[in-house]
Amino acid sequence: MGCETAEMKIAVVGVGGTGSAACRHLAKAGHTVVGYEQFRVGHTRGSSHGESRIIRYTYPDPLFTGMMGDAYPLWAGLESEAREELFVRCGGVLIAPEGHADLRDTRESIESAGLPFEELTPGETAARFPAFRLAADEIALYQKDSGFLRATRCVRAQARIAAVHGAEIREATAVHEVASRNGKPVVRTEGGEEPFDAVIVTAGAWMGKLMHGLNLPLSVERRQVVYLRIARSPEHFAPEQFPIWIDARTLYYGFPSDGVIQGVKLASHVAGYAVDPDNDGREPAADIIAEALEIATRRFPDLSDQVAFTQVCLYTSTASEDFIMDYAPDLPNVFLISGCSGHGFKFTVLLGKIAADIVTGKTYPRDLSRFALSRFV
Ligand SMILES: Cc1cc2nc3c(=O)[nH]c(=O)nc-3n(C[C@H](O)[C@H](O)[C@H](O)COP(=O)(O)OP(=O)(O)OC[C@H]3O[C@@H](n4cnc5c(N)ncnc54)[C@H](O)[C@@H]3O)c2cc1C
Repeated sequence: MGCETAEMKIAVVGVGGTGSAACRHLAKAGHTVVGYEQFRVGHTRGSSHGESRIIRYTYPDPLFTGMMGDAYPLWAGLESEAREELFVRCGGVLIAPEGHADLRDTRESIESAGLPFEELTPGETAARFPAFRLAADEIALYQKDSGFLRATRCVRAQARIAAVHGAEIREATAVHEVASRNGKPVVRTEGGEEPFDAVIVTAGAWMGKLMHGLNLPLSVERRQVVYLRIARSPEHFAPEQFPIWIDARTLYYGFPSDGVIQGVKLASHVAGYAVDPDNDGREPAADIIAEALEIATRRFPDLSDQVAFTQVCLYTSTASEDFIMDYAPDLPNVFLISGCSGHGFKFTVLLGKIAADIVTGKTYPRDLSRFALSRFV
């Protein structure tokens, strides 16, 4: 596996969130990189498009909080290399009733990581973030380092910088097979087979189809984001006065106005349907909009019931929502990253680097055994 070589020829299959990051890290390290993307970089059919993805340390799980400690400096590095705004630092709140397990575990997780946080009562929350209404039994755990990443811009920036460092990004080039010939990985496209020293597969919602021989236990589901127009006090929805929010009870979450799309975005982590990523299923669903409206009007009385924009995106999930990061069995030097389970974007900059490091013979200091394929056996 991954012998350390001065220069390797490496394929990255899928130039989305994780793949674009892998291309950039590899190209900057001086490797010969070919990134294969079946559509165009920044397309809207996968999982990494749009104006906003939450970034936060506030996980109930110390491993994810710790990994975000590794990801934050990588995002800052990307943003300064890209010379454009990728990360809006608006802070974030986790809203839950006192005693809720996620609130308790998140508090413990960020406390043990030495991160600052505040706990706000409903009155304190409304005074500080006037658009919010909390129920009497709720508190808001505020963490200042949360915010949102401009997802499409991040993917495009990673791919652009990778290309500047010599990566060849082959758009509109679908990979039909990743196989092994005489112990070496090959990538097969319409144009034929090409051998590589290593292949990183980051095919998102298409992972199960491309690597069908592995029977990966991944589910692909659509999720729909809804932007509602602001009825009153638009300044209360600006990033300066409106943190990203997650409601631990309903698993709805949302963002301040992003300055690009009108209104404010909210979505459910859980409400969606299973889909085949090749069969559209991307038209708006009325029941999802109705539920979002119900949540929004209760929580944010200054929002209107007018939908400004709605869009579908795909989740590729494992049952535990732990990612897959491992070598493919029986395919030497083929490394898989998948199962980002609806919370992976904030990690993509790190996941791409971990894959790049591992296939080039370096290690990642944290224990990644939770993400190994052997857990499914
Ligand atoms: C509505 C929604 C909201 C989300 N909110 C958040 C959030 O707030 N915070 C957060 O951290 N995460 C969030 N996520 C999750 C996050 O966006 C995903 O986990 C992440 O984008 C997954 O990245 P990826 O690289 O695995 O997949 P993708 O970015 O989809 O990349 C896979 C790429 O592989 C390409 N591909 C596939 N098969 C082939 C092939 N055979 N040949 C060539 N190319 C191929 C695809 O076209 C695609 O471009 C959200 C996801 C959705 C859908």
